[in-house]
Amino acid sequence: MEISHKRDVKTALKGQFTTIEENAKLRVICGPMFSGKTTKLINIIHTYAAQDRRIQVFKPQLDHRYATKEIVSHDNKSIAAIGITNAEELYAFADKTDVFAIDEAQFFGDEIVNVCQSLTRKNKIVIISGLDFDFKARPFGSMPALLSLADEIIKLNAVCNFCAGHASFSHRTTTEVETLVLGEKDKYVPLCRSCYLEVLKA
Ligand SMILES: [Zn+2]
Repeated sequence: MEISHKRDVKTALKGQFTTIEENAKLRVICGPMFSGKTTKLINIIHTYAAQDRRIQVFKPQLDHRYATKEIVSHDNKSIAAIGITNAEELYAFADKTDVFAIDEAQFFGDEIVNVCQSLTRKNKIVIISGLDFDFKARPFGSMPALLSLADEIIKLNAVCNFCAGHASFSHRTTTEVETLVLGEKDKYVPLCRSCYLEVLKA
């Protein structure tokens, strides 16, 4: 096909495309602990709610830190949520949900990647919030795959506990070695890259 013809096809299709906001089907919010991910998720949910979209919030059932039936940000904003143990449980909500908001996504198994892709193919909007790094600064669970598939990435920083710089890492202050250890400021501090490297040397 000659270039001029390609341009014709593009022009013909142009009117069928949706807006940029509509095209952002998979949105991922990531960052360390205390970076405001849940607050950002709640704010995005409110914007969809204002558009009269049917929204449902989900979180892994293992997270009992604040409450079982809601997600709560560190600044105490809260919103009702359904606890699920496997991301495939989301399919059951597809008929009555336009926007799936998923908090603490790093705790779900690999299945969440296919589930998110299937939901977006069904024209659903999926907003994921999760830690991009575990306590050893390793990419966390399925978050790397979700980030590579995302239409939009919102990467947040916390305030470094040592130098007040931009923190990307959640450093564990206890000696527990398991990847999954629930805790708050009693167990984790946000650190910037240089302070994190200093801690590793100490
Ligand atoms: Zn620092």
